[in-house]
Amino acid sequence: MSMKINRERLLDTFTKLVSIDSPSYGEREMCAELKARLLALGLSVEEDDTAKVSGSNCGNLIAKLPGTLDIPPVMYSCHMDTVAPAFGKRAIIHEDGLITSAGDTILGADDLAGVSGILEALQVIIEEDIPHGPIEIVFTTGEEVYGKGVNALDMSKIKAKDAYVFDLTGQTGHAARKAPTIISIRIEVKGKAAHAGFAPEQGIHAIRIASGAIAKLQFGHVDEETTANIGTIAGGAATNIVPESCVVTGEVRGYNHEKALAQTEHIIETFRREAKAAGTEIIAESEVCIKAYEIDLNSRAVQRFCKACEEMGVEPDLCETFGGSDLNVFANRGMDGLVVASAMEQCHSCKEYTTVDELCRMTQMVLTLMTMDE
Ligand SMILES: [Zn+2]
Repeated sequence: MSMKINRERLLDTFTKLVSIDSPSYGEREMCAELKARLLALGLSVEEDDTAKVSGSNCGNLIAKLPGTLDIPPVMYSCHMDTVAPAFGKRAIIHEDGLITSAGDTILGADDLAGVSGILEALQVIIEEDIPHGPIEIVFTTGEEVYGKGVNALDMSKIKAKDAYVFDLTGQTGHAARKAPTIISIRIEVKGKAAHAGFAPEQGIHAIRIASGAIAKLQFGHVDEETTANIGTIAGGAATNIVPESCVVTGEVRGYNHEKALAQTEHIIETFRREAKAAGTEIIAESEVCIKAYEIDLNSRAVQRFCKACEEMGVEPDLCETFGGSDLNVFANRGMDGLVVASAMEQCHSCKEYTTVDELCRMTQMVLTLMTMDE
């Protein structure tokens, strides 16, 4: 069997998708383009009605292709949104095969390389009539803003129990089966304003309380699987006023969900004690942005990925990631899966790039996974 990827067509698809503006919450045009392409390939396509909940101007796309092989369905997923600076993106294909943006925007290989690979693999399967299992495609909105689209997704629409989320840096063969909980924190210390020269004793110094708490806390790697950070601090109104308010924001992430929650509580409690000692209080908010998961090495999703690597002659490189993806939600709702390398490097920067070779290899990986007979 030839299973030949059309390299020019793949590059055309990637270039076209990159040229479409698709910021988080503004994926409408991308959604329309992908819907048209999936319909043209003969898949059944549904745009769900999650826009109201996710805050995006369109829904997630769910497409299905019945299998010709009698095996359990498998889901392939990417996100439709791209990070800033996201407007006016252009893919520039250099002579040596490097693909970059024009330098003033991100490229959008995150995650349009994966999207292009899935579309090309589907086209090859259909054109060449290659046997394949039942395929489910999910293209989400708002992944870059903590999975707004996937969080709103009705999982009863998905029949597959195994997911491949193409949304990871690294070479083909690389995949992540473990990701952390990420919790964002916002704490406001309530002080009391007073003139700093005439009556400082009448004030309560919000910045001093915040800095007292910060000085008592440990940041960075607080244990072998948890990190903590205060990332911003803002407060005060003028040089001659005792600051009335100080707001800090930060995050905790860790592979152990309970420990991450406990660390968050420890940070908030430290601020609360410091405020109490100064006769005041805090307003604290924390939000679990994504929840940790770990996929079993013996699961079908991992086993067939390793087999696909073997077929392609690449070494499977299973790792942990310390970032989130849509798989955090899929895995916490009962699916097994991997986040798979998707031909993107230096993401979330204007230096983001991919290469023609890696795009083709990644597409070959999609094709190999889709056409396995188990
Ligand atoms: Zn991504």
